[in-house]
Amino acid sequence: MAGLPLARLMPIERPRGTNDYGPEEMARRRAVEGLLRDAAHRFGFREVSTPTIEHLDLFTRKSGPGIVEELYAFKDKGGRDLALRPEFTGSIVRFYLSELRNLPKPIKVYSVGNVFRYEEPQKGRYREFTQFNAEIIGAPALPGDAEVIALAIECLRSVGVREVRVRVGHIGMLRAFLRVPPEDQGKILHWLDKRNFPALKNELARLRLETLETPLRQYIELKGGPDVLDTGAKVLAGVGTEGFEYLKALAKRLEVYGVGHVTFDLGVVRGLDYYTGMVFEVDSPNLGAEKQVMGGGAYSLAEVFGGDPVPQTGFAFGLDRVVLAAEAEGVKLPVPRLDCYVIPIGESMRAKSLEVLQLLRRAGVSADVDLLGRGPSKNLDYANAIHARFGILVGETESKKGRVAVKDLDSGKQEELTLEAVIANALQRPKA
Ligand code: AMP
Repeated sequence: MAGLPLARLMPIERPRGTNDYGPEEMARRRAVEGLLRDAAHRFGFREVSTPTIEHLDLFTRKSGPGIVEELYAFKDKGGRDLALRPEFTGSIVRFYLSELRNLPKPIKVYSVGNVFRYEEPQKGRYREFTQFNAEIIGAPALPGDAEVIALAIECLRSVGVREVRVRVGHIGMLRAFLRVPPEDQGKILHWLDKRNFPALKNELARLRLETLETPLRQYIELKGGPDVLDTGAKVLAGVGTEGFEYLKALAKRLEVYGVGHVTFDLGVVRGLDYYTGMVFEVDSPNLGAEKQVMGGGAYSLAEVFGGDPVPQTGFAFGLDRVVLAAEAEGVKLPVPRLDCYVIPIGESMRAKSLEVLQLLRRAGVSADVDLLGRGPSKNLDYANAIHARFGILVGETESKKGRVAVKDLDSGKQEELTLEAVIANALQRPKA
């Protein structure tokens, strides 16, 4: 060791803002992911996949050059400017314009994968995290928006998360009020979203729009029932009521879907500056500071990339936050367990144990076997520690009768059974 350079002896830690997930945590994440996928399929959404790396342009054209600060952007060996995706929407729009637009409309797609953002890590806020993203392309606003919000709520319900708050706002009305080019709107909306009022003031001063500061700040505080929409129309004097009437109609349509607990929140501004109509967020009040489990809205992005305008509505969940929300509510997730752990009683029964193991595995039962040559009691400890359902003890006496001793590791009860009975039990019982 003496001759090794110090750097080789230092443990290597994972990069800041990233996570390792052990088997238990991974099983919970996969269980949640499976439930989200099932919900999407029940709603007629189909999965698509896009690359983790994209041309940097895809994100700067959509969100402006300022976005680079929040990205993992780099040059590849050929000198091309690339970035790790910070979300899915840009990729889906690119894919739509190159291929998906040939599919019959509406196009209902979802994706699951990791995304990367260069931000300050804290609990529930990482630099690499997994998103579940769903989009409808080419449906008129009202039916499309309602279907997307209904799916978002169904996703949480199907995971078992009950305490959710749906907040719906309208960014189109704010844009109409601002009456400046979209790039400038984007900056104002960004500071409003961050509630960074000094920066907002500066931006408005630069654009000689100082008089808008008071109504904008009043507007984002409006939250509650339909009457806040009437107040919103008054605060944004001159913009009309179209968007607000739209939100009322949307809330009615959502009631038909069984989503009757919508709060109107005109403070939902959404950081990324491509939303053009309805915007919404869903919170799990149990999560503390990072309580927002998902966000989404309606936008029209295709024209930014040279396509014909097409209405789109989408949302994204942070998988980690859905798992945290489920855990905070004590939800028991359907995590798969090992059915059988096979234990030879004595070295002479090892070959027989392997036979039993093969038969179980071939019958579709998940089964594992002692690999360390431990004694029966240590093996039962191990089987308990990995949360197996049954310990299958293969001993000489039972084996001669064509049977094994089966210990139910939940109840502690032990009985002698044929292998056929073991298989039938293991396949029938609920695995949760
Ligand atoms: P956004 O794309 O910013 O609207 O985020 C959509 C969802 O992704 C949020 O509601 C969170 O659940 C999740 N999310 C956003 N940023 C992070 C992060 N840095 N770490 C973990 N989850 C995140």
